[in-house]
Amino acid sequence: MSGERPDREAGSKLAAGAGMASAGTTSTGTASAGSATPLAGRALTREREALCRAARSLFERALTHGSTGNLSVRTDDGYLMTPTGASLGDLDPARLSRLDAGGRWVDGDAPTKESFLHLAMYDERPGARAVAHLHSHHATAVSVLADVDPQDVLPPLTAYYVMRVGTLPLVPYHAPGDLALADAVRERAGRHHALLLANHGPVVAGTSLAGACDAIEELEATARLHLSLHGRACRCLTPEQVAAIRAKFPAG
Ligand SMILES: [Zn+2]
Repeated sequence: MSGERPDREAGSKLAAGAGMASAGTTSTGTASAGSATPLAGRALTREREALCRAARSLFERALTHGSTGNLSVRTDDGYLMTPTGASLGDLDPARLSRLDAGGRWVDGDAPTKESFLHLAMYDERPGARAVAHLHSHHATAVSVLADVDPQDVLPPLTAYYVMRVGTLPLVPYHAPGDLALADAVRERAGRHHALLLANHGPVVAGTSLAGACDAIEELEATARLHLSLHGRACRCLTPEQVAAIRAKFPAG
């Protein structure tokens, strides 16, 4: 068992996005791939549909709100990313932003203004295939607490948290649009697949879309647990218990 679920399990977990895969979507996805073979075009269309299903599932379960949050996947020749200003609950697979391997916008709607966060994670984690960023309620609440360890914000409350998230460094606050945030993310992303942006929210890379979503949901659930326990004496996992889990189930 790895720390991430296989796609087929996630597919059954995520809300069904039936109806999203219109014939028009298929042709657009194929055409936008330029010289891609029909087989590659179909694979790209499936990636677009999976991204929209995952986004919709997160939104419908209130894991992010309004037009906040963004998802991306690494493709064979670049990236697919959620567009700027779009609600994760109402994405059109044909209008996802497509970026080339250098992070330049190729087609689709303009990418999220936080695309630099995703690209910083991908650059530092060659094995990453997906990145999720949310403004989820409890993780964001933890990101504004004054009395946290910036090297590892949440305690090891459960084995699943240790397996799917591991350690969670706090990235110092940056104003919206401040590209210095990308450098702050890069500094930490090579060693950690999950980061908490101060006064903002979590960003998590995974070796699959399902893995990234699973990890960011585990992070949110643990933040909620942590806040529910706040002020009470806790029996966290011991360093020895954490080490044993990490040896058997490396996170990220
Ligand atoms: Zn954000």
